[in-house]
Amino acid sequence: MSRSVLISGASIAGPALAYWLNRHGFRVTVVERAAELRSGGYKIDLRGVTVEVAERMGIMDRVRELSTDMRDETFVDRDDRPLLTMPADFFAGRHGHDDEIMRGDLSQILYDLTKDDVDYIFDDSITELVDDADGVKVSFEKSPARRFDLVVGADGLHSNVRKLAFGPEPDFVHEMGYYAAICGTPNHLGLDRSERLYVEPGRTTNVYSTSRMAGAKALFLFSSEKLTYDHRDVATQKKIVADTFAGVGWRVPQLLESMWTAPDFYFDSLSQVRMDSWSRGRVVLLGDAGYCPSLASGQGTGLALVGAYVLAGELAAAGGDHVAGFAGYEREMRPYVEKNQKLGSQAVKQMVARSNAAIRMQLLMLRVMPKLPGSAAIMRKVMQPIHDAANGITLKDY
Ligand SMILES: Cc1cc2nc3c(=O)[nH]c(=O)nc-3n(C[C@H](O)[C@H](O)[C@H](O)COP(=O)(O)OP(=O)(O)OC[C@H]3O[C@@H](n4cnc5c(N)ncnc54)[C@H](O)[C@@H]3O)c2cc1C
Repeated sequence: MSRSVLISGASIAGPALAYWLNRHGFRVTVVERAAELRSGGYKIDLRGVTVEVAERMGIMDRVRELSTDMRDETFVDRDDRPLLTMPADFFAGRHGHDDEIMRGDLSQILYDLTKDDVDYIFDDSITELVDDADGVKVSFEKSPARRFDLVVGADGLHSNVRKLAFGPEPDFVHEMGYYAAICGTPNHLGLDRSERLYVEPGRTTNVYSTSRMAGAKALFLFSSEKLTYDHRDVATQKKIVADTFAGVGWRVPQLLESMWTAPDFYFDSLSQVRMDSWSRGRVVLLGDAGYCPSLASGQGTGLALVGAYVLAGELAAAGGDHVAGFAGYEREMRPYVEKNQKLGSQAVKQMVARSNAAIRMQLLMLRVMPKLPGSAAIMRKVMQPIHDAANGITLKDY
């Protein structure tokens, strides 16, 4: 019977799993490398089954209170003249009860929900995992070594637990040839729940401001050969973005200028994690650590929240037997993960057009589509893969 669980990572997957494990009677400790809960990040969608999980956690009302409440998205030319405006829900493929929230807000909601019942250790990291028949001996950078029945890696795309228990990152992380940088920026454009997009070949820039945001957020998305850089070296990452977007028109020079001083800078490759199995012995992976679908899918948070519900539920249903619990988790989650990863691979090509002709074609399609006979059916068809992937699992009642 496995009862004590250590989770590495306190972003989305970690606190969500902590919530469910605690409800099922497990003793939970979460270790997070950052000194405090990390804020920042882009707006993230809660679609389909994810909304159901959030409702079962009792957080959906709070999510709606903090909703980005975005209204529209406008493609602009280099002089900021509008080329095409679309409703935000259509642009993001949201239906019915789906919603959107800032990543940092969701992480805070999940932390607040669990902080009184779960032992959080910040500013520390696992250095060694020794898995024997009875449990896992865990060594930390700072805390004394301890034993746990199970260890969960919910520590993201560059998972430390995956590296320690499964092997080196390149064996599992598949880069897609694109990179994204995200940071806060002054709201020079006076945006109110709206987003502007400016596209040049291989480089896309977005700026938006939500209902509750003092400033705005900028996204720099670009295609590139594989880049080699240190994941913790923010100065080098900023330089990569500045060099890549040098000479790009519209408000990009102004955005790059404010990027240099942005405290909430986030940079990563668009990558997918693909693994034959998410568990090894008493160690299991959750969220981006095990099956990152890439930022392009818009479903990373969904997989993390649903995965947390399923992993905790399967462990509880198996009475804490980790072999049966992990097998159930794999069986329930894998088809859902595969559908959402497929979405990521397809979406990325539309987010960064490779040539001026491709940009013109994309705008033409978006402009013409709503005017075609049977346009509603066409729109539904375009959105169907997102809807199918977001609803691609039936939740069990654990
Ligand atoms: C600050 C931040 C900003 C982000 N911004 C965006 C965004 O704008 N758009 C987007 O699509 N996705 C973003 N993401 C990723 C997004 O949150 C995930 O794709 C998704 O929500 C799945 O969450 P996750 O909890 O599995 O992984 P993540 O959200 O990546 O969280 C992993 C957590 O593990 C922690 N961690 C890492 N290494 C260790 C270690 N050695 N020991 C302990 N803890 C460790 C990290 O600090 C982090 O808190 C961001 C993630 C972070 C942390």
